[in-house]
Amino acid sequence: MKKTKIIATIGPSSRDTEVIKELILNGMDIARINLTHASHEFAKDVINKIDNLNKELNTSVSIMFDLEGPDINVGKFAGGSAYLTKNSKIRIYMDDILGDSTKFSINYPKLIDEIKVNTVIKLDDGLIELNVIDKELNYLLCEVVTGGFIENNKGLNVIGTKIRMPFLTKKDKEDIKFACEQNIDYLALSLIRSSEDVLEVNDLLINLNNDHISIISKIENESAIDDIDEIIRNSDAIMVARGDLGVELPMERIPGIQKMIINKCHMMSKVSIVATEMMSTMENAVRPTRAEVSDVANAVLDGVDVVMLSGETTIGKYPIETLKIMTKIIESSELDQNYLDFLDKTMRTEKQDITGSVAYSSVECALRLKCNAIVTPTMSGYTARKISRFRPSCIVIALCPNVETVKSLNIYYGIYPVLVDEIKSFDKMMDLAKKTATKILRCDNGKIIVTGGYPFNEVKHTNFMKIEEI
Ligand code: PGA
Ligand code: MN
Repeated sequence: MKKTKIIATIGPSSRDTEVIKELILNGMDIARINLTHASHEFAKDVINKIDNLNKELNTSVSIMFDLEGPDINVGKFAGGSAYLTKNSKIRIYMDDILGDSTKFSINYPKLIDEIKVNTVIKLDDGLIELNVIDKELNYLLCEVVTGGFIENNKGLNVIGTKIRMPFLTKKDKEDIKFACEQNIDYLALSLIRSSEDVLEVNDLLINLNNDHISIISKIENESAIDDIDEIIRNSDAIMVARGDLGVELPMERIPGIQKMIINKCHMMSKVSIVATEMMSTMENAVRPTRAEVSDVANAVLDGVDVVMLSGETTIGKYPIETLKIMTKIIESSELDQNYLDFLDKTMRTEKQDITGSVAYSSVECALRLKCNAIVTPTMSGYTARKISRFRPSCIVIALCPNVETVKSLNIYYGIYPVLVDEIKSFDKMMDLAKKTATKILRCDNGKIIVTGGYPFNEVKHTNFMKIEEI
């Protein structure tokens, strides 16, 4: 069973119940809904389908909403598009005009006050590049460095400039309210510029009385990288959002940044996610390239918690096949993970307390004895998360009486959360641990380690570990 988790984005290619069912059966742990494109109606439909499938399949797949973020867009063009010719001049107007091949408008008029001459502006995922050569009263005069077709409402990135646009747009505020109403599990924040943006969302969630939604900060620009430590500290998880990152920064910097973020997250006990173009060839082909196989495998070998699929499962022709192949790559790469190395590295940054020591011993023992699972009863998820941090060689079955905790644990490396009734006695817990492990592992001869805190009602109090034959 794989331990690295998969987030699959649901879109037109995957919204049918039968497809979602196959995605779940082939390794999707979290379904992502990208609110830049998806409507509330679409989101409700997917949530409903996943709720029903979770009941039918006895699974606990979680839901993630991804916000649009404070992005700048171009306005409308006569006829819907225009061609911008290399070396020609183009005017970017701060008021609303109809665009053509010599001019267009944008949705953020204050840009003219914040941008400097000689700044690079990229359009439509970086396909078109402009350079600001002059500032006039109500427009920016630019030169087209790389030309191409531009369509209505495409995105615009201002390179190397920290835009002062308020982080929470009207749409994002409405989407966060909707996320709370739908009681979803994870909220991904697009285009954050610093930890202040993360704290603003935190405050809003507190005002909305939501204390359990996990916050995922997407790293998509240089200014977020500059504040990476504080952003990690204030988030539950970090997404290396390579799509926008590759527009804002030279693409060749991405691999180094990805490794830096995975490592920092691991050391700070936070989840890391690698996203975008992991298997994009499979949008149109039944096989990935060798380079894509290496990309997924290398993220796993570096100890990432989660890999993500976007276009492959939203608009691609082969969403189910992509999931199957990604799961195979993960399973194979996990055989090559250096568990001893992870264990050593993690121990060096672990607090010298009882919980950490028992978690370390459980993981070390599981590796030495080639155990099939570590089983842990957990109230808040703390013990399970601690074990996951040591990157165990076997899966971690978390027995948990709280459905919100179950859903929140889905994103962690190795954790298989299971909803159980409240556990009343030590003997009943041992019994339940063995039965659940036998069922999940589909085997009845092996070894498991049961670890947790006794008495049960205290949190952050792991104090026992027991080795059991099943
Ligand atoms: P997006 O984020 O797909 O919402 O743009 C991911 C990325 O930029 O890589
Ligand atoms: Mn993005």
